[in-house]
Amino acid sequence: MDNPEYREGLDDLASHYKSILTLLGEDVEREGLVKTPMRVAKAMQVLTRGYTQDPKKVLTDALFKEDYNQMVVVKDIDLFSLCEHHMLPFYGKAHVAYIPNGYITGLSKIARVVDIFSHRLQVQERLTQQIRECIEETLHPLGVMVVIEAKHMCMQMRGVEKQNSITVTSDFCGAFEQAKTRQEFMELVNSNSHKF
Ligand SMILES: [Zn+2]
Repeated sequence: MDNPEYREGLDDLASHYKSILTLLGEDVEREGLVKTPMRVAKAMQVLTRGYTQDPKKVLTDALFKEDYNQMVVVKDIDLFSLCEHHMLPFYGKAHVAYIPNGYITGLSKIARVVDIFSHRLQVQERLTQQIRECIEETLHPLGVMVVIEAKHMCMQMRGVEKQNSITVTSDFCGAFEQAKTRQEFMELVNSNSHKF
């Protein structure tokens, strides 16, 4: 592969998308569609690039010893993923909190972890859990909590249930087992302090 941005199998992927377009009733030779199979193949490789990336390594490469042991909150992390049932997008925000236990990581690394797991085929529940586990197993903090709020195009575009509904999932461990700690996190998430 000449372009390292793309993975093996790109040409195969494009040829399958050509078949898919034909099966959907399209004329793959018409001008607007000639390059579409390759464009879709490239887009799908980008949207699933998380399979080739190691989220734990992102955190362990940026571990810093630090005595700070209050809650660290990274909120409003933009999230774009594909649901594994329909391969349609779901998108929204992730909010992550952890309480360090001797080590902290770069704040941008938390967003990177969200990005890597969301660039795989997902269900929102598992995505939430994987982010929590990754932080727990690398930073060994006193607690971690992850909340994701997302809209699912497979519900909205197909007209299933309430089209504007937002799905909220959360996962937590350690100090966040206590309702008071979860509440503190949720108050920080819901505060408008980020709208400077
Ligand atoms: Zn779906």
